[in-house]
Amino acid sequence: MGIDFSMQNIKKCLCMKCAVQIESQCVKYKQKLMLLMKNQDLDSPMMMSPDRVPGVYCSTGKALCKDIDTKKVCKCNECPIWKEKELEKGTPSRYFCENGKAPKH
Ligand code: SF4
Ligand code: SF4
Repeated sequence: MGIDFSMQNIKKCLCMKCAVQIESQCVKYKQKLMLLMKNQDLDSPMMMSPDRVPGVYCSTGKALCKDIDTKKVCKCNECPIWKEKELEKGTPSRYFCENGKAPKH
């Protein structure tokens, strides 16, 4: 089973607070749009499509924003989804934004 791209998982994901993304203008722009959608109650799963959400890369694969800094430290190992789904056992096990989605198991 892969990781669901769901509102529940988007909320749990720590990518939005991760140092790898924090300086990215592209990520900031997507976050701003997400906030606008949320404020207008448009945060349905359809509106929150993978290209709009700069996170849950373990589910959706590599980041579309290219101005991220993968030399910084990944936060996935602190994430509840990572723990629940035992993502440390797969390859890739972290830095999904750079390495692609978590393997199905
Ligand atoms: S996958 Fe890991 S490195 Fe990439 S943004 Fe998320 S927490 Fe940070
Ligand atoms: S494991 Fe990493 S990419 Fe997946 S939801 Fe958690 S913080 Fe986001």
